[in-house]
Amino acid sequence: MAGNIRLYEVSPRDGLQNEPEIVSTDAKVALIERIVAAGFTDVEVTSFVSPRFIPQLADAAEVIARLPKAEGVRFWALVPNPVGLDRAVETGIRNIATFMSASETHNQKNVNRTVKESLAGLKKVIGGAAAHDIRVRSYISTALGCPYEGDVPVFKVVDLALALREAGANEIALGDTTGMGEPSQLQDLIGALVAAGIPVSDLACHLHDTRGTAVVNAYAAWKVGVTTFDGSIAGIGGCPYAPGAAGNASTEDLLHLFEREGCDTGIDLEAACEAGAFMSEVLGRTLPGRYHQYWLGARARRAKLAAGS
Ligand code: MG
Repeated sequence: MAGNIRLYEVSPRDGLQNEPEIVSTDAKVALIERIVAAGFTDVEVTSFVSPRFIPQLADAAEVIARLPKAEGVRFWALVPNPVGLDRAVETGIRNIATFMSASETHNQKNVNRTVKESLAGLKKVIGGAAAHDIRVRSYISTALGCPYEGDVPVFKVVDLALALREAGANEIALGDTTGMGEPSQLQDLIGALVAAGIPVSDLACHLHDTRGTAVVNAYAAWKVGVTTFDGSIAGIGGCPYAPGAAGNASTEDLLHLFEREGCDTGIDLEAACEAGAFMSEVLGRTLPGRYHQYWLGARARRAKLAAGS
């Protein structure tokens, strides 16, 4: 066995917030049930960003109230600010995720604040979460490049990661927001974060497949010790504020990669593919994940053969 891989499933939140339709609460709960049944241990289920900005996830409290009872599964919600934290605490959720960008322009466009202002706000959120014994993961967006500024210096990402850790973040998720990163760059960034004192086991990679590099970047990160990867079933979603951004890393692509490498993910690839087929039906279109598309094609061929025999 080549070791354990932890896949952190983001489709109910990062996937659906960037789809044009508003998916029903029933369909969201049905998706989460399928994800849990497939064996995922970490699922980001919704967001407490104001419904004025993300109407797709306005039913956050209801989704949390209807989560399946699942031993050993951590459900996560995105929290933007202290108001969002209050709403999250009310629902009883035990794990939250915060977000901000390493680059000034993307942060301004995304949350209308400077990096310094965002960090000050998130320190309050992270401290408040700790007071409720809530686990925190902190996303650093544009960690591998900014669509407005281009290269993002490694020291900016390292300084921000250290500040978030000092505030109490348990896990740092490196976001390649518009899929600009390449494998050796990602390995260098991980090396710098580890050299700065952050255990590699507390790092996660949130990769995007905008330029077709999500899987190769995941492989490169794994080769330098990262074992937590974010995926979205069938590759749905992305970042709504970054021009040209499309396609979270597809969960099925990552699962296939790590299974073939002999890793233990604890997840049933077929069941994950069934969840992808379900989302394709709900959204009524072909979804971007490569393995998802391969699997649907293979299933259709099997059905045709069965019908003809
Ligand atoms: Mg994403």
